[in-house]
Amino acid sequence: MAPPEGDGRAPWRVLVTDQVDPEGVALLREEPALQVDERPTLPPDELLRRIGDYDAIVGRSATRISAELLRNAPRLRVVGRAGVGVDNIALDAATALGIAVINAPAGNTVAVAELVFGALIGLLRQLPAAAASMAAGRWDRSQFMGRELKGKTLGIVGLGRIGSEVAARAHAFGMPVVAYDPYIAEERFTAFRVRRAPSLDALLAESNIVTLHVPLTDETRGLIGRRELGRLPAKSVVVNMARGGVVDEAALAAALVARELRGAVLDVFEHEPLAADHPLRGAPNLLLTPHLGANTVEAQRNVARDVCLAVRDALLRQDLSRSINVAASDGGWAELHAAMVVARRAAAVARAVLADQGMRAVRALTLRVGPELAHGGAPLLAAAATGVLEGILETDRLNLINARALADARGIDLAVGTSAELGHPRALEVTLGGGMQQLAVTGIAAEGSPRLTRIGAFHVDVNPRQTLLVLTNHDVPGVIGRVGTLLGERRVNIAEYHQARLAQGGDALAAISVDGSVDEDTRRALLDLPDVRSASVVHFRDF
Ligand code: NAD
Repeated sequence: MAPPEGDGRAPWRVLVTDQVDPEGVALLREEPALQVDERPTLPPDELLRRIGDYDAIVGRSATRISAELLRNAPRLRVVGRAGVGVDNIALDAATALGIAVINAPAGNTVAVAELVFGALIGLLRQLPAAAASMAAGRWDRSQFMGRELKGKTLGIVGLGRIGSEVAARAHAFGMPVVAYDPYIAEERFTAFRVRRAPSLDALLAESNIVTLHVPLTDETRGLIGRRELGRLPAKSVVVNMARGGVVDEAALAAALVARELRGAVLDVFEHEPLAADHPLRGAPNLLLTPHLGANTVEAQRNVARDVCLAVRDALLRQDLSRSINVAASDGGWAELHAAMVVARRAAAVARAVLADQGMRAVRALTLRVGPELAHGGAPLLAAAATGVLEGILETDRLNLINARALADARGIDLAVGTSAELGHPRALEVTLGGGMQQLAVTGIAAEGSPRLTRIGAFHVDVNPRQTLLVLTNHDVPGVIGRVGTLLGERRVNIAEYHQARLAQGGDALAAISVDGSVDEDTRRALLDLPDVRSASVVHFRDF
């Protein structure tokens, strides 16, 4: 993401809305390169009128970021959500437009985990009813006999961020803990001292209290329905602080009315806010809270700080590692940056050279990476796709977020794999193909100095910076001199000149790194030189 043209003001403009915690906003304000405008939640039409002025918007759930809004935001680069849910953001439209969506999934973990136990104790000791009876002037001790947590088996569905915090606290209450999460490695169960249930049914069969901490997906919608409630031991308790829709509300209400369950806690609902006359409101032994899981001062501060730092890094440091719609990598983003530069530039060179050989319609892009880059396959492939497309598409909206989708839409097959045969652990090779032709360009992502090391069959060694000229010629004396003279006459400064040949007197290739740009007229003049067969100019762009 290159910064917008300077106009005397801070180059990046950020709109903060929906009462994001001031500690987070302060982190944006202290950056001289950011101009921050804070507005209360804006009506949709007013937001639509203003959004065109901004490079980033940061808000909570009250502001709907629709596809229409995004399409009317030509400058917008980043949408930040101070919180976890992105249901209010048109994610697919953002991805297609190359707009990063950043949320703050971790800051409210403790808030939810604590509420699980607060609510459970509230339910099991009948605290809401006891408090109401005190407020009404009564003293009803015998009516409020409660139950303890100690010794009750807690079944956790989803051992992610929140599920594991719940497990840690359950130990303190003396509860045996069992969890079901098919997507988590064995070590995580061991680390949290949690017994692994082989199936959801097995977990349900032994849980006195079952608590849900899974995302709402096609797989988890209706995860706990009539059948599953029936598998619980008699007088169990169900807690849903994950997402409405994971528990079948009608089935739960029926089980409560039939007194099959001891009780339930619900913080989230299929439709929020919960309708005033919803059947759940009248169900017995049910503790309802209005989606309070993340509603603590600390959590709001955490998520605001978290998202504001990530938005800052996306704008000022081109760090998209926190964007939920960019290709994910297992390693650090900064550590991959040099490799992304090489992937993008190698692909740009391959595309330009092939185009000058008459092959314009790229059909396939294959990336091979050395073992040290194996963890970054997805973002590196996106970077290579960016390099292919930048010469073809409007670059304004082309970036790591939408490159793969755009390549896909153009019918380019993308593939990535690891290879130990590239000669260097941080080497990568981009092969572009179409019809009968293909061309591979290899580079090495050594820190500080990215190099291109092979173009087709020719071994080169050149730093791909600013502009690269790739010439093919007959290996005869005098070509280098004539090329150098022509470029000198046209005030094109050569930074590096690497001449490679396959055999004496055969084909030769020159990779010439030059400062600034090279115009079409100069390229044609190079082509007119004796023995020069092709001349490709690649102007590199930055992320
Ligand atoms: P997370 O991504 O860290 O963990 C989710 C876990 O669920 C993962 O370990 C995943 O492997 C597991 N999982 C996915 N599908 C599963 C399935 N079919 N069966 C079993 N396990 C499955 O998420 P998190 O931060 O722990 O959040 C958990 C839930 O809590 C989310 O739905 C989130 O939206 C919700 N949440 C609610 C509030 C609130 O205010 N009540 C606040 C924050 C988060």
